[in-house]
Amino acid sequence: MTRWNRLRGLVDGRLRLPGDTGFRARSTPFNERYRDVTPAAVLSVTGPADVGRAIAWSRDCGVPVVARGGGHGYAGGSVNSGLVLDLSGIDGVHVDPSTALVTVGGGTRMRKLYSALRAHEMTLPLGNSHDVGIGGLVLGGGVSVVSRAAGLTCDALVSTDVVLADGRTLTCSETENSDLFWACRGGGGGNFGVNTSFTFQARPVPATSTCLVLWERPHAIEVLAVMQEVMHRAPNEFSARIGISRSRDGDDVVSVIGQHLGPAHELREMLAPALSVAPATRADIEDRTYWEAADYLHHTTAGGAFAVRTRCTPGPLPEEGLRTIVSALDKWPGSANPDGAGVALFTWGGVINDVPVEETAFPHREALFLISMDTSWRPDESPSVERDNLEWLDALYRNMGEFATDASYLNFSDPDLDDWRTAYHGPNAQRLAQVKRRYDPDRIFSFAQAI
Ligand SMILES: Cc1cc2nc3c(=O)[nH]c(=O)nc-3n(C[C@H](O)[C@H](O)[C@H](O)COP(=O)(O)OP(=O)(O)OC[C@H]3O[C@@H](n4cnc5c(N)ncnc54)[C@H](O)[C@@H]3O)c2cc1C
Repeated sequence: MTRWNRLRGLVDGRLRLPGDTGFRARSTPFNERYRDVTPAAVLSVTGPADVGRAIAWSRDCGVPVVARGGGHGYAGGSVNSGLVLDLSGIDGVHVDPSTALVTVGGGTRMRKLYSALRAHEMTLPLGNSHDVGIGGLVLGGGVSVVSRAAGLTCDALVSTDVVLADGRTLTCSETENSDLFWACRGGGGGNFGVNTSFTFQARPVPATSTCLVLWERPHAIEVLAVMQEVMHRAPNEFSARIGISRSRDGDDVVSVIGQHLGPAHELREMLAPALSVAPATRADIEDRTYWEAADYLHHTTAGGAFAVRTRCTPGPLPEEGLRTIVSALDKWPGSANPDGAGVALFTWGGVINDVPVEETAFPHREALFLISMDTSWRPDESPSVERDNLEWLDALYRNMGEFATDASYLNFSDPDLDDWRTAYHGPNAQRLAQVKRRYDPDRIFSFAQAI
């Protein structure tokens, strides 16, 4: 009997080998930069028992094992050369209307979770793409457009069940296995075990308004400068992504995309300084229901291959920092990916920063903006296109070091970070290493940037 047949006999889920129908759909990472990484097999697990048996099998056989939630990890972290545990079948969602507690399977994606919450007019701080998995999102922190008012996804976590490397399943919360619970709140997916369920505290949906405002490139510096000040002073109810991007065709656009947990007239007042500093080519500022806003703000992307590098800043960037960003776009080497390249300042802060740094594993509790620098290409372009794009991104990342900190967001994972332990985990790195030694002493869960 081959080892694969032995695994088949141990589990209820379906095992697929390369060439089997559905193999690629369940193993290819969303970021096609990693599309050539092919696992030896994919097991679509049916529940925690399958996860435990598969982990025990992989230990016995010495086959590396990795969990796949939504497959949207930026650095292809949910595929390896061994056994991929496809969690997509563990996606039940239960909402208790009396307590507003929401329990979801470890492989649930945003689309299903949003639609279950919508039926109860409740919400959680969640990501803005239908296909992102709850596992990767919450375990790495999870930042939403409402996080300045409602906290991170991991801040709303109440308990989680984890299948460990030794096959045991532990329930973790503030009072039970609290060190592992602490680590699951922002310490990073794939490090400690496979989380088969998460329970969150939801809350009623608020009234909202949204904005999408665009300006032409010549106004970039003044608009970015004013918008940083607007966001610095903004109430926690307002959050926005301030960006400048260059398309494949070489067109630049300055954008502000955001949501306010209040009426559109308040949003218009807050945006007035930016609207008066330069004429906008488009200014959609509207009242929307929470669910209309979620659809409106849904992240659309052409996909393909991409790379992202991040830094944080506790306050507005100086004008020289903004000039560094804007002039970098002139040097973008180009590619055939419609997503092009750009820099976005995601407004963080608000109640995210009310939580002490050591209270959860997520360490970035002092930032005002996450600075996200990205570029994209198509995987069928020549290797020189990828190389030139990565060199361009690296130069921008390094140049921004003069203006912003080295703190990086783990969920925008960056395989090219030098000191990733400090950049991702800050002062929590040492405690995370202790939790890792306690729950996965043999490093069964191992990957390039594993704790
Ligand atoms: C289009 C797009 C939109 C995004 N929007 C947001 C956003 O609004 N806010 C935000 O904060 N981030 C966002 N992200 C980043 C996202 O949070 C991370 O990429 C996250 O890791 C994706 O999780 P996943 O389960 O889909 O990915 P996967 O690649 O499946 O998993 C990522 C890592 O988590 C591990 N993992 C996944 N599930 C489990 C589990 N149940 N138990 C244990 N380990 C697990 C995997 O092994 C892997 O190491 C976005 C990403 C994309 C591509």
